[in-house]
Amino acid sequence: MPGRTGAVKRVHHDRIRAPPKTVLRSPITARRLWSPLPERAAPAAGQQKNRDQNFAEPQADVCGARSGTSPGVCAPVRSDSAVSGRISTTMASDPCSFSSFTRCVTRHLNLHLHVDFDRHVIRAKVELTVEALEDRFTALTLDTRDLKIVSVSANGQAARFTMGPKHSFKGTPLDIKLPFDLSRGQHVIVEVTYETSPSASALQWLTPEQTAGKKQPYLFSQCQAHHCRSMIPCQDSPSVKHTYYAQVSVPKDLVAVMSAMRDGQEVDPQDNSRAVFRFRQPVPMPSYLIAIVVGALESREIGPRTRVWSEEEFVDKAASEFSETENMLKTAEDLAGPYVWGQYDILVLPPSFPYGGMENPCLTFATPTLLAGDKSLSNVIAHEISHSWTGNLVTNQTWEHFWLNEGHTVYLERMIGRCLESEQFRQFKAMGGWKDLQDSVNTFGADNPLTNLVPNLQDVDPDDAFSSVPYEKGFALLYHLEELMGGPEVFMGFVKSYIQRFAYSSVTTDEWKNYLFTYFKDKVDILNKVDWNAWMFTPGMPPVKPQYDTTLADACITLAQKWVKAKDQDLSSFKESDVKTLSSHQIIEFLSLLLQEDPLPLTHVKKMQEVYDLNASMNSEIRFRWLRLCVRSRWEELVPLALKMATEQGRMKFTRPLFREVFNFEKHCDEAVSVFLAHRTAMHPVTAGLVSKDLKVDTSKSTSL
Ligand SMILES: [Zn+2]
Repeated sequence: MPGRTGAVKRVHHDRIRAPPKTVLRSPITARRLWSPLPERAAPAAGQQKNRDQNFAEPQADVCGARSGTSPGVCAPVRSDSAVSGRISTTMASDPCSFSSFTRCVTRHLNLHLHVDFDRHVIRAKVELTVEALEDRFTALTLDTRDLKIVSVSANGQAARFTMGPKHSFKGTPLDIKLPFDLSRGQHVIVEVTYETSPSASALQWLTPEQTAGKKQPYLFSQCQAHHCRSMIPCQDSPSVKHTYYAQVSVPKDLVAVMSAMRDGQEVDPQDNSRAVFRFRQPVPMPSYLIAIVVGALESREIGPRTRVWSEEEFVDKAASEFSETENMLKTAEDLAGPYVWGQYDILVLPPSFPYGGMENPCLTFATPTLLAGDKSLSNVIAHEISHSWTGNLVTNQTWEHFWLNEGHTVYLERMIGRCLESEQFRQFKAMGGWKDLQDSVNTFGADNPLTNLVPNLQDVDPDDAFSSVPYEKGFALLYHLEELMGGPEVFMGFVKSYIQRFAYSSVTTDEWKNYLFTYFKDKVDILNKVDWNAWMFTPGMPPVKPQYDTTLADACITLAQKWVKAKDQDLSSFKESDVKTLSSHQIIEFLSLLLQEDPLPLTHVKKMQEVYDLNASMNSEIRFRWLRLCVRSRWEELVPLALKMATEQGRMKFTRPLFREVFNFEKHCDEAVSVFLAHRTAMHPVTAGLVSKDLKVDTSKSTSL
């Protein structure tokens, strides 16, 4: 990254509120608590309360170094009204979950996972430490999807369980009857032994041929939004936050990593051809942030709290691409407060990972399409780093409030861009975001209620609702408020204060808005003039279009318009030097502008290749837009390149539009459909479902491919 230009004036650097009280036990107690042995003597419900009195005083530091002194120790969070009371008092319902979180909440998970690459399943046992929120508590419901439940017990006593009817996207409720009553505030350890399905929606199993190294298989998970239940029976709602500990057994040539602090490894005592990796996550987090990867992984240290992980083939490239990570982390801390998660590692996945990045705590997942060679796509890392505060520390209470996660994260990501680049750069990225929003609104339809900032997701699969809307409509609202309230420094003060106020909890839009009115109590008159209903509950584009600074965009607009207006005889005026002074971000913008116009004549795109040589670009954001442009202009020779790019990865941002463009090319439509159907089987289940719905391909054919 270039040096700081126009660095933001530092906002007050308040400490984040004290963390929730985590518990450190003596190693002996801890080992017993997490003993994988079935004969473990678990405390009865009555004893549980006494055990709670052993809670240590809260630690001054949040996690990491200090708790690292007690290997294997990480424990349930004590009931703490400042942390958890909000869940039980304001939580009405989560339309995407069956679990009974108004009556009880999970405080801790203890996982034992046995990863079976032969059968593509995880054999597992989970112990959930559950706190009753009401008296005479005797039954609870967990979310599951396609899990084979073997047995359930409560504090070591067998418990009756039944599976409810399967729902199309919510999965199957697991109803558990406890063999005893609990009083409000008591804990029970519910132990479920189970096995995942080979088609678990959270898991993608890759054959050795699908990896870079070609020798070892690979497994990765993607739990957001509601897929954790296909990996772990749990209260799969972002309104519930818990710590976790995990022991993962894998073939000994492979390495496991999770969204947690690494806590050592050893030969599997049950099978010396396998290794057990241990992890602890002492910061309470929602189930959708549990993540696991198993593969032939290597790592490189790139900073005092950062390593990059990937297959050997990409690891050095990744280390170089993400070398500015510590700098970004420090910038984010200046803006938002201390980083509480200890380690910040980046894992570069195989190309079939469906998203640009996923903010799994301690271990951001990143697509290999970020490896542009020139650090030009590192804003995705700035985005994932920002989630360490907005999303992971302060979490949307249900997926209807997803904009609280993503809108604030885009806002923070662009504030990092402002610090590391310039205010003009932030404005430029904001303008690009407005266009992404317009694209989403066009795709969904301007009267589609899923384009509301706060959509009603009753009976709606959150995957179907996924779009740029929560990101960019959310950002646009925050930017609009920033202008009304007095500028970036003033408004960043609010965002930081909001993070401190709601750290470690899950919030609704109402709670956010109430806090906004409290924080800006002297400016309530201005806030009352905002058309909140139009912003939040009305489909389509926002009621106010912000006026962004166009300095960096002007060069892109001018060049794009020159191409649009050029006649054949004008083509000789285009030169290589046209794009020499443009940054990668500006070239991406230039191509995006052309994609909003009617297709260029074929002569034009051929000339563009001759003078700019975009085929040679290693930046996937450039390459993807360029290939789309060429296919739209009916450049037949580039269709194979477009299909190759679409099939080399699962990143739906690229895959969907590239396939759609080739489908629209009548002559190549059948070819594209058959390539697509073959490719779909190699995709992550989430992407495969999204792509097939979006492109409306007859997926019944896919079984024969
Ligand atoms: Zn995000």
